[in-house]
Amino acid sequence: MATVEELKLRVRELENELIKCKQKQSAMDNAHNQEQHRPKIDKMSSEVVDSNPYSRLMALKRMGIVKDYEKIRTFTVAVVGVGGVGSVTAEMLTRCGIGKLILFDYDKVELANMNRLFFQPHQAGLSKVEAAEHTLRNINPDVSFETHNYNITTMDNFAHFMERISFGGLEEGKPVDLILSCVDNFEARMAINTACNELGQIWMESGVSENAVSGHIQLIIPGETACFACAPPLIVAANIDEKTLKRDGVCAASLPTTMGVVAGILVQNVLKYLLKFGTVSHYLGYNAMKDFFPTMAMKANPQCNDRYCRIQQEEYKKKEAERPKVEVVEEEEEEIVHEDNDWGIEVVSEVTDMELEAASGVVPHLPEGITVAYTIPAEVSIM
Ligand SMILES: [Zn+2]
Repeated sequence: MATVEELKLRVRELENELIKCKQKQSAMDNAHNQEQHRPKIDKMSSEVVDSNPYSRLMALKRMGIVKDYEKIRTFTVAVVGVGGVGSVTAEMLTRCGIGKLILFDYDKVELANMNRLFFQPHQAGLSKVEAAEHTLRNINPDVSFETHNYNITTMDNFAHFMERISFGGLEEGKPVDLILSCVDNFEARMAINTACNELGQIWMESGVSENAVSGHIQLIIPGETACFACAPPLIVAANIDEKTLKRDGVCAASLPTTMGVVAGILVQNVLKYLLKFGTVSHYLGYNAMKDFFPTMAMKANPQCNDRYCRIQQEEYKKKEAERPKVEVVEEEEEEIVHEDNDWGIEVVSEVTDMELEAASGVVPHLPEGITVAYTIPAEVSIM
């Protein structure tokens, strides 16, 4: 029979062994964590090995789709609004190896967001930009991130927003290459429009309807294509009167499918624009009820309410006049949009006509299936 002293010694031995086991375990955990956070990659390679995160993207060159895929690392994209569309947009750009992402959003992650992609329940309560940066950095540490947790429409924040899109490029002091509007309200879109017109900054707008079954993307080149204030932005009609949906206090519907589709067509257009392949869409709609994708192009409105839009139009006209006339092809193409329209251009319903009149700007030619998405509120103060 063991004495008390012998038993005490045995207990001490076992305690020591337990500490050693715990230390070994934590060392293994650390090694595992380090494996998950891969080191940065200096140069994109097309080497076909399982450990190369860019092999499938670089294969686009071999397939003759993109000439210089590596160029993606030189671009900075600002994403305004990191919700259902913006978060997925940011994730796609991160996985594609974009150089720098600047994220703007003032919202927090909530459980009510879990019907959409990207955010996870354990992130509830965190700011969307903080939670997004954490996830995205983990996916691709090669991307530079800059986040701003504020509402861009207040005066101070708007000034800071202007400053960051003017100087926040990958090379500090250079402007960003593209701004993506993934916001869900009129004021924020108007703020982005105001900033981009003043700076001559190219941007893309995106939107999903409040009934969750249609959406659109639009490329806006200040002075050249219609800006957000030139004409009421358009979405695809869903055969449901929008007036019945847009009542105050009524909770907007959303689907991960529609938001995923809109983020997909948005980033597709971004990749085509930045890496110069395929045709960059000026406007692409998505009607989920009919699986209908209308496209169109819209010129800037000389009577636009935005002073900087009119200034940009003058500059664009000057540049066009100076350019030798070779591009007759483009004009023809634009007309084809209307002539070849299988859906036929029809006069829109009376309600929509009234909506168009109520909104400022010229009434665009609308292919069937497209209607006005936003009407400008009677007394909106544009900063
Ligand atoms: Zn305009």
